Amino acid sequence: MIDMIYELVKKREKQMSKTSKPCATCGGPTTMTAEVDRFEYGFPLTVTLSCDVIVYNCEACPFSFTDQQAETAREVAVEEHLRAIAPRPDARKDQVAK
Ligand SMILES: [Zn+2]
Repeated sequence: MIDMIYELVKKREKQMSKTSKPCATCGGPTTMTAEVDRFEYGFPLTVTLSCDVIVYNCEACPFSFTDQQAETAREVAVEEHLRAIAPRPDARKDQVAK
């Protein structure tokens, strides 16, 4: 499931890199930059997760924005974090066997 999400993100990123988007505010041309987005996740133990997002910067006005790719990237970062802290089913199986 997580691997599927990764594939989806990779595919989307490839599509993204080919086309830029018009500015959501003024419709002007935008340039894309890859930035690291950091956000806090979890309660009561809060961790700071980070992910690579594509930011669209308008050339005509100061507006910059992210799109669905950023949302997906954040979801993937959360999935990754949850997988990292989850008990490993394989390790548990080994313990039972011993
Ligand atoms: Zn603009």
